[in-house]
Amino acid sequence: MIRYLTDMQDAVRYSLQVAYRDALRDEKRRIPSPISLRREVRDWFYSRYDYARHHVNPVCRTAVAVLRSYRKNRHGELRIPEVRRLAMRIDGELFRVIGGRIRVTLQPNRYVWLLINSSNKHYDEYSKGRASELLVTDTKVCLTFVVGEEKKPLGKMFVAQDLNFRSVDSTKALTTGDTPRLEGVKTEPLGQVVRVQNDFSRRRRALQKHVKNPQKRMLKLRETRGRQRNRIRDALHKLSTKTVKENPDASFVFEDLKGIRRSSVGKSSLFRTYLNRWPYRMYQSMVEYKSTNRPLYVSPRGTSSECPVCGGVLEHPEWAVSRCRTCGADYGRDRLASLAILCRGLRLCGLTPFAVSADASWRQMRDEYLYPGGAPGAVRAGGTDAASAPNLDAHTKVHV
Ligand SMILES: [Zn+2]
Repeated sequence: MIRYLTDMQDAVRYSLQVAYRDALRDEKRRIPSPISLRREVRDWFYSRYDYARHHVNPVCRTAVAVLRSYRKNRHGELRIPEVRRLAMRIDGELFRVIGGRIRVTLQPNRYVWLLINSSNKHYDEYSKGRASELLVTDTKVCLTFVVGEEKKPLGKMFVAQDLNFRSVDSTKALTTGDTPRLEGVKTEPLGQVVRVQNDFSRRRRALQKHVKNPQKRMLKLRETRGRQRNRIRDALHKLSTKTVKENPDASFVFEDLKGIRRSSVGKSSLFRTYLNRWPYRMYQSMVEYKSTNRPLYVSPRGTSSECPVCGGVLEHPEWAVSRCRTCGADYGRDRLASLAILCRGLRLCGLTPFAVSADASWRQMRDEYLYPGGAPGAVRAGGTDAASAPNLDAHTKVHV
């Protein structure tokens, strides 16, 4: 093991030189990533050592981390720091815990066994988790476990949430019976978040206009962004805590919105601003870790173009309206979207077919999904352009 540590120390020293040279060549003095460093180091590593090939990964990661923290501590100065400690992190792929001992793979089929000192009072508890990383030095061995990773169960309720710029709309359903039963629909206005965002964008515009010194302006703008983020995070924490508390036995169903920023390319810039402003991902992850149940993520494709009740085509004579000619009804767009998300979540879990139009609980709740501005089935005059372009007035409508 000591020979291994000495070899790895040499390898880290060599990798540091390579990384340093790369950083000097880079016009912005960027330190290479561990992966691009590995590309340059691996041939040297493989020809010099007969260790399992994976060992080059922690070497490159260590070299990059050492260089980065050196520069950070010296306020941007870059030099090759000295490597004195005999220590190495070993990836989870290269060791296994077997019966109170750790088996480290040095070469394929050649192992070193290390004895575990299990007298730590938490050992029994922690060792149930997954062993994630091993730190070996010349005097000690530290084994890290990841605990609490076991999968959360599905709740007996589903709460499907449609996240919008100005509100969060939810449809709740009980899923334990033979068929799912709709339990309620709710609109939670996001007034606080919207206010913070409008406040701060006004402030930023003022700064852009009035602070002439570009460096000072940059600094001020960055400061503003940080404060805005904190206030939004606060508001979302409150909302997510409240939501999870109100639905303790529910699994939340969200749209998987990872691609949404990309898909907004080509739409109007105002629309894009709104999308990027809405910190939907922050909210989702807050709910995800606060809830004791597993959330579901469904595809967002077509949630506003297909009627979840009958499968018909939805039109949007106004931004906030979803009109289904087959149902003969004008639904509130956001509430209907939450129903569509629910149906997808149910299908994902095999709880289908859920024929909404034939369902008794739907008939009871249908009115709550109707758009409050229009009579069912009525074709309203003066349909605006709001369906294709974002309409601020339409956005400000919050129906409760
Ligand atoms: Zn319909």
